[in-house]
Amino acid sequence: MMKAAYIRANSVTHALEILGDRWVLMLLQQAFFGVRRFDDFQRRLGLARSTLTHRLKHLVAHRILERQALDARDWRFEYRLTVKGRDLFNVALMCERWQRHWAAGEGQPVLRLLHRDCGQVIEPVLVCATCGDPVHARDVSYCDGPGASWIVREPRRRRRSSIDGPAPRKVQVSGELLELLGDRWTPQVAAVAFFGVRRFDEMRSSLQLATNILSDRLKRLIELGIFATRTYQERPRRLEYVLTGKGLALYPIMLTLMDWGDRWVANEAGPPLLLTHRPCGSRLVISVVCDHCGGPLLRDNVLPQFGPPPRSTERRFA
Ligand SMILES: [Zn+2]
Ligand SMILES: [Zn+2]
Repeated sequence: MMKAAYIRANSVTHALEILGDRWVLMLLQQAFFGVRRFDDFQRRLGLARSTLTHRLKHLVAHRILERQALDARDWRFEYRLTVKGRDLFNVALMCERWQRHWAAGEGQPVLRLLHRDCGQVIEPVLVCATCGDPVHARDVSYCDGPGASWIVREPRRRRRSSIDGPAPRKVQVSGELLELLGDRWTPQVAAVAFFGVRRFDEMRSSLQLATNILSDRLKRLIELGIFATRTYQERPRRLEYVLTGKGLALYPIMLTLMDWGDRWVANEAGPPLLLTHRPCGSRLVISVVCDHCGGPLLRDNVLPQFGPPPRSTERRFA
């Protein structure tokens, strides 16, 4: 039996403790598309009622969804996104962007975004709010913030990374993204790479993961094209794990998760980690904007559209 261990607190880990589950991610996506009722979630996701009940309870407990009575007489309820839940919109936009660029061609309808303010089909871009430039992993440095601390990594039973069964057909979250984010460890292994951790032993100690779990996740991340290996020593031969272009493109998702985590799940002292945007020298505050007009992207000014023709299937975010 593994003993509990301590790892450095960061808000990506905190956010993933809540969100890193395939059903939670799919449920949230449906909530953003305006689904509110138990039966509608169940019909769209095709999951067992007990599984749905469990995940809804989890999201209500974390105050991401709230249960509201529709009608006091017939005991019907609906589940609405809270302010905390709606604040995941930037994460949803960055996931959508990654998926469209890196996990297309799976026979899923293409989701496009129409920005009402400029009337264009657009690309959401994560920028530094101070200088307005797009943010790349290589341009960001990190230091301890006021909430820097160590958190207990609870030992868990070994769990395989592969998702159990195919994703339901009507779901527009790609299987790859679900596998990357919908698991407790996989995204954390990818996340440490953004802090410059590349070697197996460094990864194991910074994440306090069992060797078999780390090996399993690294193998899968290589199969998915997120990491490539590079030899850093010949005798004995040693490999390090470097992010590919597809892996580096996950960075905006990590930053939006950290940003949300800093706001909603960090301790009272403040964010555990402070980021600096090196090109402008400012403390990094992120913003997600339209690549066409540079305006902000908000839930009520972005229209999701599925595949061609866009007009006939126009919908609104909840
Ligand atoms: Zn900047
Ligand atoms: Zn625009």
